[in-house]
Amino acid sequence: MAKKQFKSESKRLLDLMINSIYTNRDIFLREIISNASDAIDKLCFKSLTDQNVGMSREDFKIEIGTDKENRTITVSDNGIGMDEDDLENNLGVIASSGSYKFKQEMDKDDKEDIDIIGQFGVGFYSAFMVAKEITVITKKYGSDKAYKWQSTGADGYTIEECDKDTVGTQIIMKLKDNTDEENYDEYLEQYKLSSLIKKYSDYIHYPIEMEMKKS
Ligand code: ADP
Ligand code: MG
Repeated sequence: MAKKQFKSESKRLLDLMINSIYTNRDIFLREIISNASDAIDKLCFKSLTDQNVGMSREDFKIEIGTDKENRTITVSDNGIGMDEDDLENNLGVIASSGSYKFKQEMDKDDKEDIDIIGQFGVGFYSAFMVAKEITVITKKYGSDKAYKWQSTGADGYTIEECDKDTVGTQIIMKLKDNTDEENYDEYLEQYKLSSLIKKYSDYIHYPIEMEMKKS
């Protein structure tokens, strides 16, 4: 499968994000959960006028699962989902290059010691602070096809058709390998994820359920 390249602006921001030493990596979960919530908002809104959605307000939820053996965290939602074009347009480009421009401005004034990532909603790509590979499995409302988007970061991404029964999106983050300096195992622990949800995602108005796979 041919690997596609991120748009250049995205590449720079991705590098900045992954390599920034001022970054608070914990915020990746907030970004992924807020995307899940946004996607649910969209389908929930649609359900008000479209009987075919067949869902009501209390059916919507976000699920978080971990797999210690495979070192993955999965965030699932039953929101609007994405088709091939959405994946290409929304995940192939960093939605907002605001952080990059901001960083450039800052560099001029030599004020580098600011937690850029912590202050801006940088979104999906922040997951590459903790993940060495991200897989997105998604099916859009109204579409009969599902797609798998996969990327290991700045070197591009692949998209292929796959199977998924229900509408919505699954974000599977494979944690980076531990090194002498950095350990990522904490993100496989329920207490850590719970505390991050409490700290950063308290405002989300859909249930966030957690499931831990024993290994
Ligand atoms: P933002 O949320 O500010 O638009 P992100 O980088 O967080 O930027 O996400 C980029 C886009 O990818 C979103 O706008 C949305 O279109 C799409 N997206 C990301 N996660 C999901 C999801 N779970 N369900 C549907 N679409 C998603
Ligand atoms: Mg977002």
